[in-house]
Amino acid sequence: MVLNSNSSNKKGEDNNQEGIIYNYEKRKEYILIGIVFAVLAALSVAYLIMIQFGLFQFYLPFSDNEYDGKEFEGYSGRDVILVCCSWGEELADGELTYFIGENIIKQGGNGNGEKVESGSIKAINRAIQDWDSKIERLTFTETSERQNADIEFYVREGRNERAGVTKNYYDYYGFITKSYVMISDGAFGFGFSDGQIEHIAKHEFGHVLGLGHANFDTLMAAQVNRGSGTVSDCEIDAVYKANEWWFEKSTDGRLLYIRHPNTEHVECSAM
Ligand SMILES: [Zn+2]
Repeated sequence: MVLNSNSSNKKGEDNNQEGIIYNYEKRKEYILIGIVFAVLAALSVAYLIMIQFGLFQFYLPFSDNEYDGKEFEGYSGRDVILVCCSWGEELADGELTYFIGENIIKQGGNGNGEKVESGSIKAINRAIQDWDSKIERLTFTETSERQNADIEFYVREGRNERAGVTKNYYDYYGFITKSYVMISDGAFGFGFSDGQIEHIAKHEFGHVLGLGHANFDTLMAAQVNRGSGTVSDCEIDAVYKANEWWFEKSTDGRLLYIRHPNTEHVECSAM
């Protein structure tokens, strides 16, 4: 900009020497404009790459179900995962079935027929299979019949900070009978990578299995993207505690009667 005022001063002077200097200054000005455009172009490309690969998404606070800090009162200084609920008779055979919706859920129900990317479906399957391998005695089986599924997964258009939502339904006695999981395909205008979808699906599946949130950075951390993307021993323990009636079979192998969890949390500090 200094160059600009400099050159404009010389504009009116009719002198060869000055004219050469003027042309020279003008060329410098063009080069400068060129550099500015090159920098802007590079920044735009970098921005697009960051959106595509989600490089700075992890600094944004993704959450799922409404987080209430009060639920962790009394646990200060201890790492805990809250235990919510137990599955009912659907768990009796040790198998839960799940269905993954193939169309993206949009606000207002528009956009029928837009398919969920196959990478996202694979990511959700990977998340469930990871849980399956870690909770050895339970089996999670995919079904194409939505009506018969114990758990239904859907991918919805991401709108805000909600990375996912799990809604459990309960029978008269308060035992889980059915779970609905919604996973956003993005948040804050960014699309989630398959790795992030897998992480979110894994976290939501923890809620499906009866877990609440954790008060430290682990898979069940309330701020989903602060936690680790792997199922820890403490989360496995919490699933055992949530569905204790099923995991603690009597010595002759008969199932105990269905009952609620004996505890509201598991301690993770020692694990
Ligand atoms: Zn959650």
